[in-house]
Amino acid sequence: MDELISIGEFSQHSGLSPKRLRSYASAGLLIPAAVDAASGYRYYSLGQLRNARLIDALREAGMSLADIASFLRRPRQDDLDRWAQRVIVDAERRQEAVGLARRLVAMEVHEARVDQEVRRGERSMATMRMAARTDIGRVRESNEDMVLTSERLAAVADGMGGHPGGEVAAVAAVSAIRAAFTGRSVDELLAGVRAANFAIWDRARTSPDLEGMGTTICAVGLTDDGQLVAVNVGDSRAYLQREGSMSQITDDHSVTAELVQRGELSEEDAIDHPQHKVLTRVLGGGPDVEPDSVLLRARDGDRLLLCTDGLVNEVGKDQIAPLLADAQDGASVADALVELAVSNGGQDNVSVVVIDVIAAPPTG
Ligand code: MN
Repeated sequence: MDELISIGEFSQHSGLSPKRLRSYASAGLLIPAAVDAASGYRYYSLGQLRNARLIDALREAGMSLADIASFLRRPRQDDLDRWAQRVIVDAERRQEAVGLARRLVAMEVHEARVDQEVRRGERSMATMRMAARTDIGRVRESNEDMVLTSERLAAVADGMGGHPGGEVAAVAAVSAIRAAFTGRSVDELLAGVRAANFAIWDRARTSPDLEGMGTTICAVGLTDDGQLVAVNVGDSRAYLQREGSMSQITDDHSVTAELVQRGELSEEDAIDHPQHKVLTRVLGGGPDVEPDSVLLRARDGDRLLLCTDGLVNEVGKDQIAPLLADAQDGASVADALVELAVSNGGQDNVSVVVIDVIAAPPTG
């Protein structure tokens, strides 16, 4: 039987304050070996020293008391490896959040300067006019696509993982980029996509009903120095219609798209390939993601189309291009594209955003 020592002596031996020891006792992590019934004095055994130090080390590593309790029931090196990884990821995420805070603080000053330049006629103002449509299609029981339009930002997201995960992931993605993007820089949009990815992944692994959820994202932002920035993860696309021709400005992150890019598969054969819809990058698949981004100077008359795969799987490029080139307004084009996808089969949810860029030259 181990020798019993008072809480004061145990505190000295372990380097943990009596207050800490009491808090670990009340959390059920480190119960005193004996409590004097009359005085209420707590006694610990020397054999408890190792556990006391272990609990304190885990606490210092940022583990919650509940996580420590479950670790102590079955202590494994594997779990410590996982925790170490999480500490790294958490630190990165905090750095990103600090970066965003910095940008938000700097933004006010920047906006005042932009306003001044616009008033003096030193800066051209570009704006985006947008029309968004989303449709459940003919087959699916829910719509897990999400569209976003705000003053300087448009996005589509194609959620996956079944109800309710797909919708949760798609909503999380568009709301994170909306919060991150103020129009100052491309980095804001990339930071927003990474933050969305982490948030989705973190929720998916801790909520059993959301397990396996994920989403694509494809977004176009207009920076206040007149650049269009497109970012994407997954197989939702952005097309640009400029000077009479339409081109896809994003690359799909799917098994077949990558084979096509490497010249190992033709675009026609990709449609019948067994891994046609298998994505190689998705938001929520892991703690980190590398979004693609493209930067273009906005030109007056540019028209962009954002769409989920529900459009391109039903409507060929040869059908999309003339609709986009049509002089009619964006809302009618968006309607026509969605109607066509649904009447061609509507096997999937379908979403589009049509963006018209209006760029006035400097007035000075
Ligand atoms: Mn889809």
